[in-house]
Amino acid sequence: FLPHLVASMEQVEETYIMVKPDGVQRGLVGEIISRFEKKGFRLTGLKLFQCPKELAEEHYKDLKTKSFFPKLINYITSGPVVCMAWEGVGAVASARKLIGSTNPLQAEPGTIRGDLAVQTGRNVVHGSDSPENGKREIALWFKEGELCQWTAVQAPWLRE
Ligand code: GDP
Ligand code: MG
Repeated sequence: FLPHLVASMEQVEETYIMVKPDGVQRGLVGEIISRFEKKGFRLTGLKLFQCPKELAEEHYKDLKTKSFFPKLINYITSGPVVCMAWEGVGAVASARKLIGSTNPLQAEPGTIRGDLAVQTGRNVVHGSDSPENGKREIALWFKEGELCQWTAVQAPWLRE
């Protein structure tokens, strides 16, 4: 087993998770939150929010040149989203695994997209793709006073 992989898996990371407007409209908010809650991550931010166009464009700025970009911005701003900040050891990669592949038809059963969605353009949830983007996106979507640091009583039962 590669020591540098073990080391990186031991990092406490922050990840930005968002229930997209289709997830809110389809009544999947509780289901999606509970997947991260049950895994053992710590929730540090949570709000229902109507995303302005400018924020959606900034969040997805790396996809600006894609043909689907205008559709993506319409989708994300089409209704309220649920913004979440989660923290935990290896949380970024682990959350991406819980979420599943971008195309829900290719996402494994057991993942959020694999279980709950059928199309890339309606894939119900977002998760940061790197620890750097986790930090960037949390700073983008949350104001300082909206985040909470706290100690979970279950902590010693999650990690030895
Ligand atoms: P993610 O990290 O798995 O969410 O995927 P990406 O970062 O590649 O894309 C961001 C989001 O853009 C996806 O979750 C989809 O909602 C949307 N998206 C990506 N590719 C397509 C596409 O080919 N068509 C449409 N309509 N939306 C797309
Ligand atoms: Mg992405």
